[in-house]
Amino acid sequence: MKIVRSDKNIYAFTTDMQPVLEAAPGEKILFETNDCFAGQIGSEKDLCTEIDFNYINPATGPVAVAGAEKGDLLGVFIENIEVGKQAVSVVIPGEGILPDKVGSSVTRTVMTDEEKGTCTFAGITLPLKPMVGVIGVAPGEGSFPTGTPAAHGGNMDTNDIRKGTTVWFPVRQKGAMLALGDCHAVMGDGEVCCSGAEVPAKVTVRLELVKGAFAPWPIAVTEKEIVIIASDDTMEQAAAAAGEAMTELVQKCLGLTFEDALILCSLAMDLRISQVVDPKKTVRAVMPLEILPWEKAKAALSGC
Ligand code: CA
Ligand code: ZN
Repeated sequence: MKIVRSDKNIYAFTTDMQPVLEAAPGEKILFETNDCFAGQIGSEKDLCTEIDFNYINPATGPVAVAGAEKGDLLGVFIENIEVGKQAVSVVIPGEGILPDKVGSSVTRTVMTDEEKGTCTFAGITLPLKPMVGVIGVAPGEGSFPTGTPAAHGGNMDTNDIRKGTTVWFPVRQKGAMLALGDCHAVMGDGEVCCSGAEVPAKVTVRLELVKGAFAPWPIAVTEKEIVIIASDDTMEQAAAAAGEAMTELVQKCLGLTFEDALILCSLAMDLRISQVVDPKKTVRAVMPLEILPWEKAKAALSGC
């Protein structure tokens, strides 16, 4: 298995990223990831107001995928996420959904227990639900700080990006250039205080490549659902973008008119909030695989 160490990382997804490793479709890769603070917060005494914000949201990589070209779809199957023993969560004045109400910067540790499958915060037991906050590929144009989510992926902070899920990205540059980081031991939809349980992790993935296929946004395929992940300035705009992409996919796959596809989405699709605290907001459109099987969706994305 190939390993990418956590000191090989990026702070922006750009068109000209240089790979630290090349891997072929079918290969397994282990990404060692830093937490979103690049390890600057080690205890509750370390406050967010005192750290260097040039080093936020490092993503390990990028890895060039052999044979990946513009116009392909890259699948990243998340085989496992092993998290560190201690996670941290913070509030920062001016951040989160209640920016004016947070009086001072506070750091809290969250201890994880992989054997029990739990986390502990303030003496309260929570489930351990590891997920990947930042994951993406090189964009078609421009440069995106790793803290910003967009069509190339990035800081999507989406709970479905967890063990057992495959995340599909439209390839926009030769080699795709996959990077990931910002894992959370647990996070609620919305990420309301501005952080999850931020934790270093070891993420094992397997790559898959579909030639000649396109999706406007990253798509996560879980055991039960197809999840289109869209980001925009407001939640309404992100919801419209995710809903539009799902309606068009349903229309193509099931041979419906646009209007009937939209009605089907209204009956069967859920809009879920991923996060409302990053520079762009992220909403996902979720359709059960029973209605929209992935093989059919993949064929539609390939234009057949
Ligand atoms: Ca994040
Ligand atoms: Zn995070």
